[in-house]
Amino acid sequence: MSTNAESKQTGRIFACHLVNLEPLMEKQSVQHSPVQHSPVQHSSAQHSSAQHSPAQYLPITCKTALHAVSGVFPFKKDLNIYRGCENGCKYCFAVYSHKYMKVEEGQGGSANVHSANVHSSNGCANGYYDHIYVKTNVAERLDKELSAPGFKREVVNIGGICDSYQSAEAEYELMPDVLRVMIKHKMPAIISTKSDLILRDFDLIDELSKCAFVNIVSTITTADESVREKIEPGAVSTKRRFDMLEKFRKTDATIGVHMMPVLPLLTDQTENAEAIFSKTREIGADYIIVQTLYLRGQTRQIYFNFIKNEFPELYEEMRYLYRAGGLDKAYRTRYYSMVNPLLKKYELSTDYMRPVREALENGENGGEVRQPTLFDFG
Ligand code: SF4
Repeated sequence: MSTNAESKQTGRIFACHLVNLEPLMEKQSVQHSPVQHSPVQHSSAQHSSAQHSPAQYLPITCKTALHAVSGVFPFKKDLNIYRGCENGCKYCFAVYSHKYMKVEEGQGGSANVHSANVHSSNGCANGYYDHIYVKTNVAERLDKELSAPGFKREVVNIGGICDSYQSAEAEYELMPDVLRVMIKHKMPAIISTKSDLILRDFDLIDELSKCAFVNIVSTITTADESVREKIEPGAVSTKRRFDMLEKFRKTDATIGVHMMPVLPLLTDQTENAEAIFSKTREIGADYIIVQTLYLRGQTRQIYFNFIKNEFPELYEEMRYLYRAGGLDKAYRTRYYSMVNPLLKKYELSTDYMRPVREALENGENGGEVRQPTLFDFG
C-alpha cells in the first residue's frame, strides 16, 4: 500500500478528471439551434448552486468518439460525450479545450459562439462553462469504432474534459446508450463525475462491471460546503458525491477519490484533509489521489480573477505562492509533510494504477493498460 502522495503524483500529470492535456482537434457539425435553458431548469435536483448561470446546449454530430491519450494514465482512450462543462469549476484545466471546437458556419446560427469575443457570464472567456456541445451521435460512432476489425480492447476514460453527468445529461440521456455499447463490447472504463445523476444508470454500470473492469471516480476537494459552492458551483455537494461513490460499492466497480486540486489557502487545512480522508476510508474507496493546484494557460487567469472577486483577502498571498509559475516549492513540501502521515493514519492507498493492474492480474476484463515509464515523470 502506497501512502506517499507527492511521489506518485506530479503537477504535470493530473487535472480534475485525469484530463488529457493534448488538444483534441475535432471538427464538429452543428445540427440545431442552441437550446436556451432557464435558471429554473438549471437549478434542478442534481445540481445545487444558486449562483450558477444557465447554459446553452448545442447539439452536434461527431466524426470520432474515441481519442488517443498519452501520459501516465491507466487508460489509452478518452471519450467525451459533451464539450464544455456546466460544473463551472474555477480551477478547471479543460477550459483550453473549447478553442479547438470548430463549428461549421451557417448550420444553426451558433457559428460565432466560440469566437474570441464571447465572454461567459461564469467568468470563462471562451464559453467553456455555459456553451455546451452535445454529441448526439456519440453512441452510434462509438459502436462503429469498437466494431472495427482489429480494434484493441483498452481502458476508456469517460469524461476527461467534461463531466458526462452534468445537467445536460438529464435532458439528453446519452450515457445509457454509451453504456449499452460498452457492455456489448465488454469495454473496460473509468467514469469520472461530480454528479450523482450517474445513479440513474446504476444498473447499466453494474452490468458493465460484471463483464469488464470499471472504476468510478469523483473529485472531492473540500468538506466545507460554503467553499465548495463557490469553487464548483454547478456540481453536487461533497456529501452527495461520497454517497454516490458508496452506492457503487454494491457493484463490481472499483471506486476512487480525487482530492485534487488542493487549493492553497482555501482547502489546504489539516481538518479538511482529515474530513475527506476519514470519509474516503469509511466508504471503502480503493484509492485516493491528493494533488495541489497547478495553474497554467487560461485557467491561471480565470482562477486568479475568481480569488480576487470571492476571496480578496487571499489574493496577494495566492499570487505570491504562484509567483514563479508553479506552486511555491516550500509550500508544497509543507503541505505533503502534513498529508502523508494522514494518509497512513487512515490507511489509504494512493496507487491509482492498482485497481486496473489487479484486474489484469486476476484475468478479468481489464483490457490493455499502459504502465508509466520514467519519461512520464520527467
Ligand atoms: S467537473 Fe467539469 S468544470 Fe469541473 S474540473 Fe471537471 S471538466 Fe472542469
